[in-house]
Amino acid sequence: MGSTAPVSIAIIGGGIAGLSLAAALLKKPHLDVRVYEAVPAHSDVGAGLALHRNALKAMALLGPEVHQAYLDKAVNIGSGGGSDNDDEAEVEMATEIFFAWGPHASTAPDQKPVAELGRAKGRKSVSRADLLAGLLALVPGDKVRFGKRLTRVEEEETGAGGKVRFEFGDGTAGEADCLLGADGIHSIVRGFVLGEGHPARHPVNHDRWQVYRTVVTREEAIKAGVEERFTRTVPILLGPRGHVNCIPLNKGTRLSAGVAVRGAAVEGKEVDGPGKDDNEGKGTRELDVGLYKEYTPEARAIVDLVARDISASWAVGDHDHAPVYFKGRVAMLGDAAHASLPFAGNGAAQALEDAAVLDHLFGRVKQPSQIEAALGAYDAVRRPRSQAVVDLARKFGRVYAFAEGDIHEDPDKLRDFFTLAGQFTNEADLMKQNEDAMSKMEKSVRGRSKNN
Ligand code: FAD
Repeated sequence: MGSTAPVSIAIIGGGIAGLSLAAALLKKPHLDVRVYEAVPAHSDVGAGLALHRNALKAMALLGPEVHQAYLDKAVNIGSGGGSDNDDEAEVEMATEIFFAWGPHASTAPDQKPVAELGRAKGRKSVSRADLLAGLLALVPGDKVRFGKRLTRVEEEETGAGGKVRFEFGDGTAGEADCLLGADGIHSIVRGFVLGEGHPARHPVNHDRWQVYRTVVTREEAIKAGVEERFTRTVPILLGPRGHVNCIPLNKGTRLSAGVAVRGAAVEGKEVDGPGKDDNEGKGTRELDVGLYKEYTPEARAIVDLVARDISASWAVGDHDHAPVYFKGRVAMLGDAAHASLPFAGNGAAQALEDAAVLDHLFGRVKQPSQIEAALGAYDAVRRPRSQAVVDLARKFGRVYAFAEGDIHEDPDKLRDFFTLAGQFTNEADLMKQNEDAMSKMEKSVRGRSKNN
């Protein structure tokens, strides 16, 4: 006879992966879910997300309220000025790619983008802080603890009643049947799963990318010379000194503008990101606007705006491939498992896909003895796809910076590259991904019960 007590799950990290997964799992009465988040409260670090179709499909699988939390906070790309009416939801929008340098320069107002990504009706963007606030509202206050920074994980022998034990920086500790690490790019859980000495343990920045970002009001941006149309879309302007981009935020009233520079991160500088907040902007080189003299005037206006304040700037990074995403009853998801460079705009989408698969599998986990089968199925289905996206984002960065062969010399080649990449990331059949994972889990559960 199996145990009738709920299966306890500790989720470490209340970011996009942790909170969206918690919001879905909390609806399952056979589970007892707690979230532990390191920071005392989420801050607005000015990151804008333009989520692609696979992110929206994953949210819908997690539940209508998760999807709605996003819709409530997002702005239709192309609306601008705070309007967000139904007609605009019917307008098709895409991330638009322009050349800002060289013979194919295409940012002038009458020019069409050279390629596009993620064309969809009513495509939206959202600030990370807004999305987190929306997701947090779905998790009852007694299920999430802030100010709990995980420092240590330990697993008892599996078998009847074996628990995962964990400790926090404030000296407190806890235990659960299963621990899911959604603790971001600098994950502690990753160290437990892979072993501290593993070569893929820590994030890397092979191309020494530095991303400079600023957030200003839409009026300020226009006053500073940024073209009005670039405050209503998600443009990516390419050139050999790095790419320039904009994302409308907060229902179109603010604009996140950025410049990504390959080779600009200080040699040996650690990768920044959530969990390393105190590192932001420190040891950062100035953004040298002189390097952009040959960019189009439309791109230079954005560079000048970003260069005014480089305090919100990151040495970004990603993970070399982990050979496995779980160990015993401990698994990692989201950026903890497969942090990617932000250039394919799919890191949060992959975190949401992880959450959708785990949510589906844990619908079937009625006893602690079934946890490993669920985590094995999650690993088998999610690892290859999420790691392919990590590789793709690296390639996007190099293509944007004219550093991937000669692809930038031929607009047709560039267009084909983005079309194929977009199909892989955005058009995936996530229902099938969930079903594949479930059939792997069923097979494993059957195998285990035969062996017992
Ligand atoms: P995070 O959002 O990093 O959350 C991790 C959480 O864990 C944090 O709240 C952190 O405080 C907490 N934590 C850390 N350590 C501990 C600990 N020891 N104990 C407890 N809690 C801990 N993705 C897209 O899909 N589209 C985009 O357009 C896009 N744009 C981006 C732009 C930029 C500039 C960047 C940097 C990223 C972008 N991404 C985008 C990627 C996306 O932001 C991440 O992939 C996503 O936030 C990952 O979610 P997560 O929950 O796994 O990690």
